[in-house]
Amino acid sequence: MTRPYNFCAGPAALPEPVLARASAEMLDWHASGMSFMEMSHRSKEVVDTVEAAEAALRRLLGIDDDFAVIFVQGGASTQFAAVPLNLCAAGGPLAYANTGQWSRKAMAEGRRYGEVREVASATTELPRAIPPQTEWEATGDAAYLHITPNETIDGIEFHWTPETDAPLVADMSSTLLSRPIAVDDYDVIYAGAQKNIGPAGLVLVIVRRSLFGRALPSCPTLLNWQAIEEAGSMLNTPPTYSIYLAGLVFEWLEAEGGLAAMAERNRRKADTLYAAIDGSDFYGNPVDPSARSWMNVPFTLASPDLDGAFLEEAEAAGLLNLKGHRSVGGMRASLYNAIPQAAVEALVEFMQDFERRHA
Ligand code: PMP
Repeated sequence: MTRPYNFCAGPAALPEPVLARASAEMLDWHASGMSFMEMSHRSKEVVDTVEAAEAALRRLLGIDDDFAVIFVQGGASTQFAAVPLNLCAAGGPLAYANTGQWSRKAMAEGRRYGEVREVASATTELPRAIPPQTEWEATGDAAYLHITPNETIDGIEFHWTPETDAPLVADMSSTLLSRPIAVDDYDVIYAGAQKNIGPAGLVLVIVRRSLFGRALPSCPTLLNWQAIEEAGSMLNTPPTYSIYLAGLVFEWLEAEGGLAAMAERNRRKADTLYAAIDGSDFYGNPVDPSARSWMNVPFTLASPDLDGAFLEEAEAAGLLNLKGHRSVGGMRASLYNAIPQAAVEALVEFMQDFERRHA
């Protein structure tokens, strides 16, 4: 079976060797006679597997003991509420950089818990860009500064880290594990799994332990990072199969050379696609090169009237899920870790052929 190339923004393509391994282990995990899915979360096998996944993640990202790593569920959106609930006990405004649709969803949830201050916004005129920090409002006594390092829908990415005295919180859903990062530059990092990590629903939270103790009394126990950490991510029944699968992804990443190797591949894939877009008058990308996403590349055709034909022909050519987000239209190619360079080259070849036939 040849699998088509899946450019979906999430749930997204997973590495084929990971899926093959999960498939081989499905009925009989490690000669246990059971699927991993069927095992008690209190069993040694499951506890060891969760611990091994955490250890691999720590090695990949270079996470030291100042940080807790927890596996939670409810999708990244649940963390939009968990962030203020865990960090607002001392009061202060909630600072957000608004660089796209996911930032705004996080802000909307923040408003339920405090006074939200939008300290920076991406430009709306084209090409869209993130203003330099010299143009940001100061964060002052904010309870935290929340940023979305990669805006999955808008295709806008920070290629730098803001400086602030407030705890820096980053929704890294669509960029975590795409390259090395300096975890120490952040105080809280969270990411929904369905892009570079594993199955949808699972969320990774990496939190500086010194922030424990700042949760609002009303914070539900199951959203309380400290309580979850103290229970080894097993405050209630965790999504064991999703954590197992994420562990396989981490093993795959280590075998492939780790995040430095991913960065090299991902940069090359993004360069290939942006060069094709910039080299044509038929295709366009709305983002300034200083803020272009490596992971999610939105692009438009010379006329939206051609969108339907483009998508139909792309699908027939084995290039799936290129439709842009319903709120913005156009196209979007997501180039997560599991997408090989060959997929991007096949896409570029298709785009050039489509342009020749339709320009
Ligand atoms: N943040 C970002 C940056 C995202 O891309 C997404 C999902 N695409 C979310 C949050 C929401 O994730 P979930 O659907 O898992 O709640």
